[in-house]
Amino acid sequence: MGIKFAHTPSAGLDEGIQKTKPRGMAMIPTYVTAVPNGTEKGLFLAVDLGGTNFRVCSIQLHGNSTFTLTQSKVAIPQELMVAPTTSKQLFAFLAKQIESFLRTHHNDHFELRRRKSLSGEAGEHTFKLGFTFSFPVDQVGINKGYLIRWTKGYDLKDAIGKDICALLQDEIDALGLPVRVAALVNDTVGTLMARSYTSPGKTGTLLGGIFGTGTNGAYVENLSKIAKMSEYTEAEYDKSTGEMIVNTEWGGFDNALQVLPNSPYDEGLDKGSVNPGMQMFEKRVSGMFLGEILRRAILALVNSPEAQLFKDETSSSNDIGSTTCIADDSPLYSIWGIDTSFLSMVQGDTDTNWRITRQALDKELGVSAPSTEDARAVKALVTAIGKRSARLGAMAIGAVILATNRLGGKPTDAQSKEGTDALPAASATDEESIVDIGLDGSLVEYFPRFEDYMREALREIPGIGEEGEKRIRFGIAKDGSGVGAALVALTAVN
Ligand code: ADP
Repeated sequence: MGIKFAHTPSAGLDEGIQKTKPRGMAMIPTYVTAVPNGTEKGLFLAVDLGGTNFRVCSIQLHGNSTFTLTQSKVAIPQELMVAPTTSKQLFAFLAKQIESFLRTHHNDHFELRRRKSLSGEAGEHTFKLGFTFSFPVDQVGINKGYLIRWTKGYDLKDAIGKDICALLQDEIDALGLPVRVAALVNDTVGTLMARSYTSPGKTGTLLGGIFGTGTNGAYVENLSKIAKMSEYTEAEYDKSTGEMIVNTEWGGFDNALQVLPNSPYDEGLDKGSVNPGMQMFEKRVSGMFLGEILRRAILALVNSPEAQLFKDETSSSNDIGSTTCIADDSPLYSIWGIDTSFLSMVQGDTDTNWRITRQALDKELGVSAPSTEDARAVKALVTAIGKRSARLGAMAIGAVILATNRLGGKPTDAQSKEGTDALPAASATDEESIVDIGLDGSLVEYFPRFEDYMREALREIPGIGEEGEKRIRFGIAKDGSGVGAALVALTAVN
């Protein structure tokens, strides 16, 4: 790709853990200082406040890498997201959901623990709760974070600048629930924790990566390398493990550096987005954007006289614009008209006549009677877009592996080394030598060959190569905001 190594995400990671205001990735300290090994036990709670729903769940950890998850989901009423509602009313609603969840699913525990906590015997009888809150917060402790701004349709101004864990705890206390908000959790951290608990190896997972609506990753870093921790003077956290999980916010890689190659479709997408110039890595990689990149690429071919895409062969006119077989109300003509699930469908089409692709073009995009050549062209675009996403994703993952020197070799010059000979030889079956990575999100789950493409790219990265790639193990880590958040609550010391 012709990117200078000084400009790779590895260099960005290093800058980010040193500076509070890095040019590239934000590299946010999470105050989570240990990852689970699968032997953890107990009953924990987790809640997840998103743009649409509030999920409440309980997780019974069995101590053998397995767990039982019980969950409920309620849609947030629109009127609770905006004035004249106050944040107190929103959080009171959330606390009420926690109460009804406990009464429905854990009534015995609930009554017992409630009696004990009311009689002053709180402590161990209190449910620890992990709070996944996917809005920008200035986190200053494991269960303390000040809301910077609302996104996703919320606009409760009085909450800005307040500690959102305290807002939830106050309403939990008002109901007399035996529940303590023990941890504020980013969803990537949850993914990493969930994978580490369920992973077959006991060496601990290095990285949790999400390739869903957005993309982001969190990894385990040496505490001593996170120079900017010294600036968080208010923070109290457990320093004994010598490690801390860092939320990279790698979706923002390339915002400032602008080293990634750009296509005209990337440029158009960025200009038409709500946040031009932001999340520039994410805009080439994640589910929210791949459909739109495809739409723009298809339209460019439709409008190109040479390409002859979706040409109406029954027409004798040479005027391409008026002779395509695209319906006037086709989603091809609406921004964000194509969902990324369309790409997964086309990518999975192995029929010699492109039956699935032609059907999907007809039903989903309003293209009547597409030819096999049309389908072949769309498939080529889909593969190129998906492959680029996977390869960029692999670059972010590879950067973390190199920056943490998890494959061994020379730590300082790993990025500039062209060969991989210096890596300690180890077989993929040697558990100690495995680098475990948890992944989540629709792209890794449903886009055919996404992992193969990532692996191809990892093999090409100097410092990883064939030997290194064999030692990288991927595992899908679902329920990061459930079991992962509960695991953070468990390990939280507060
Ligand atoms: P989230 O990241 O919001 O927790 P997901 O991992 O399900 O949730 O990601 C949702 C994103 O994935 C959306 O942008 C959607 O367009 C995309 N998506 C949904 N289904 C598929 C699919 N089958 N293949 C690829 N992408 C998909």
